[in-house]
Amino acid sequence: MSLQQIYYITKPFVPDTLLLQPRRWRARLLERWHRHDWPACPGTEKKPHGWCGWPHAKRFALVLTHDVEGPKGLERCREMLELERSCGFRSGVFFVAERYALSDSWRDWIAEMGCEVGVHGLRHDGMLYRSRAEFQKRAIRIRRYLANWKSVGFRSPSMHHRPDWLHELGLQYDCSTFDVDPFQPQPDGVKTIFPFWVSGHEEDEGYVELPYTLPQDFTLFIELRQKGIDVWKRKLDWIAQNKGIALLITHPDYMDFGDRPHSRRTYPARYYTEFLEYIETRYAGQYWHVLPREMASFWRQTRRMHARAEVNSGEALDVPSGSQAVITGTSVSRGRFNPGSPTAGTGADGLLEPRPRTL
Ligand SMILES: [Zn+2]
Repeated sequence: MSLQQIYYITKPFVPDTLLLQPRRWRARLLERWHRHDWPACPGTEKKPHGWCGWPHAKRFALVLTHDVEGPKGLERCREMLELERSCGFRSGVFFVAERYALSDSWRDWIAEMGCEVGVHGLRHDGMLYRSRAEFQKRAIRIRRYLANWKSVGFRSPSMHHRPDWLHELGLQYDCSTFDVDPFQPQPDGVKTIFPFWVSGHEEDEGYVELPYTLPQDFTLFIELRQKGIDVWKRKLDWIAQNKGIALLITHPDYMDFGDRPHSRRTYPARYYTEFLEYIETRYAGQYWHVLPREMASFWRQTRRMHARAEVNSGEALDVPSGSQAVITGTSVSRGRFNPGSPTAGTGADGLLEPRPRTL
């Protein structure tokens, strides 16, 4: 049994306060160790080969997402989305399928708000990837939730990832990865601030991977105990300068909407609205704001268009075709992304073809 599995098994029996302090010590150490490559890692800004830019010639793309971890998060979700909407934004909301009751009317309301519903694992118990058999067992139920909720996107609990296994879910996109985030239990970042295509076995089979590129709220405000949004602003400015995707995850579970002093596990919700206001005032008209499924659809279409154009012309385009355009710095091997390698390796379990990941 791995340390991680022991952690998840004992977690329900240990008071939160006892778990939090070691996490804070660890986070502070990691922050120091990674002061040169977090929150922005040099090299991750490199554009995908053949990249033509965002629609409407926007400078950068913006995708907002939320993970609802437990019943408290569900309770606070409405207020958060209303606040977000009042600032002129919308988002993808990821729910844990079997941890709390999520009614049809709730999901309908989210759709009416112009937002999107995604699946954030089954139980958030750290066991999704425990073994291939366990994953396959859970995949059947996850696929059912995806269909019932009319969802096309998935995010693994705790950002654990096995990109080669995810093909079984029949996703349009996954968003369980990040450009760089040393604070995660599985800290291997994909080292790019652009989405990318993860190929399956068949031609055109695969899904779009949308890595998050802004630090998580829990890391900044609960673990590192930051008292403002400077890191978010700094990273956003860097992404805008490099014309990448700004993808943010926040959790209503940790947001405090009241005036009362917040607990050790919450932060003022106004941090989130302050950040939205910063985006709007500083970058008005310069960003392409879409839902995750819209971003995935754009990426998929662009890839197809490039591939078709190459077939028609019979020669290489000045924009390389989908099959040639390699996303810089990432590949899949042994079920993990390999930062720094431009081509894919063969999975140790024989599940992956040695083909490049493409735009
Ligand atoms: Zn989560």
